Amino acid sequence: MSDSASRFPSRKLRYYTLRNIEKHRLWNSIPAETREAIRVVGQVLPFRVNDYVLDQLIDWSAIPDDPIYRLVFPQPGMLSDGDYRRVAEALQRHAPADELKRVVHEIRQTLNPNPAGQMELNVPLVEGNPIPGIQHKYHETVLFFPSAGQTCHAYCTFCFRWPQFVGESDYRFAARETDDLVAYLAGQPQVSDVLVTGGDPLVMSTDVLRRYLQPLLDAKPEWPSTIRIGSKALAYWPARFVTDADADDLLRFFEEIVASGRNLAFMAHFNHYTELSTPIVLEAIRRIRSTGAMIRTQSPVVRHINDSAEVWRRLWSESIKHGMVPYYMFVERDTGARNYFSLPLARAWEIFREAASGVSGLARTVRGPSMSTTAGKVEILGPAYIGEERVLVLRFLQGRNPEWTYRPFFAHYDEEATWLSELKPAQNAERFFFEDELQSMIDSDNR
Ligand code: SF4
Repeated sequence: MSDSASRFPSRKLRYYTLRNIEKHRLWNSIPAETREAIRVVGQVLPFRVNDYVLDQLIDWSAIPDDPIYRLVFPQPGMLSDGDYRRVAEALQRHAPADELKRVVHEIRQTLNPNPAGQMELNVPLVEGNPIPGIQHKYHETVLFFPSAGQTCHAYCTFCFRWPQFVGESDYRFAARETDDLVAYLAGQPQVSDVLVTGGDPLVMSTDVLRRYLQPLLDAKPEWPSTIRIGSKALAYWPARFVTDADADDLLRFFEEIVASGRNLAFMAHFNHYTELSTPIVLEAIRRIRSTGAMIRTQSPVVRHINDSAEVWRRLWSESIKHGMVPYYMFVERDTGARNYFSLPLARAWEIFREAASGVSGLARTVRGPSMSTTAGKVEILGPAYIGEERVLVLRFLQGRNPEWTYRPFFAHYDEEATWLSELKPAQNAERFFFEDELQSMIDSDNR
């Protein structure tokens, strides 16, 4: 039995979606117009929450402005006025299911369901056949999407992987087993890191997770040298590491990975310091760290949820206090309800700089704000001048071509731009230095 079991009574994970949220005792404390927005927007974008988030993270006296409420409940502004009216009108007149489905599908198509070309560009081949559930964009790191880990303990309203959760099968890509991954990696000796991701791979039971990862661990001693697990379970369901029936087995598996000579990197997704405020999440962090795994924290900067320097300063300070390493501040991606959630790049940088100036040096391991673009991870270094021209200084943290890494480049300063594609090269240059080469890469991948 877990050493924590006596301090933390075990609780059953209970999900709420559009189907049953109206039965929750707090449903009627949501203002009527907001309840309607949940029903309307929730037709188009995914909605799922659980008891822990509802009972322990949301401050119900502060809704609808509470950041965790906005993190999980669909918000009225997430659809354009026109799209909102279309869905609301179809619901009001009880439109036939086929018609509602068509309207919803059409709206989803306008929300850029496949950002950064991930479906076409990053899927590797074995003997000429694409391998589902694997992405290989950067030389050293391969992403692995086990099919059983393609949901989450709750869904974030801003999620860039939202198409996976709405049942549009064209958007799903997931591996059924690990053999293809092992076969592919055999020809990729430069790969040092396998990032297991989703969804959230820690929705899987320990047995299932082990079934996916053991063949990889058995294939070659101490290789790949790092296993990364990307997860939001610490924020949304910390009981996974403390009181779930197989919590101890999970921690034992982590210990085995570390004992095998590998680095186990737990990439924890925390959007707000409130997620670090409950006794059970602190116990979960303590238990994961005790296995020898290193926890790094990361999040996008998101309007309406964490768009202030004070939120980030506290998030990073709390991370350090509990032994976690601040890793990334991302820019909200160009997909889904980004018109509602995105911030101008210049503003994201101000938040980053101001927050970083108020934390100890230990928290300045954090990088960002960083955009995950088709070309690679592009970091915003801030505004500057070249002669009379105000510019935004950028650099690649990771490039589709590794030669681009850390190479600074300059965009004409644009107060409103929210993504790389909205920036123009400085000094009236026709294009950024990497664009011709990137286009050749895209053309050859599409051939
Ligand atoms: S935890 Fe990650 S994958 Fe899951 S909904 Fe949130 S952002 Fe999306």
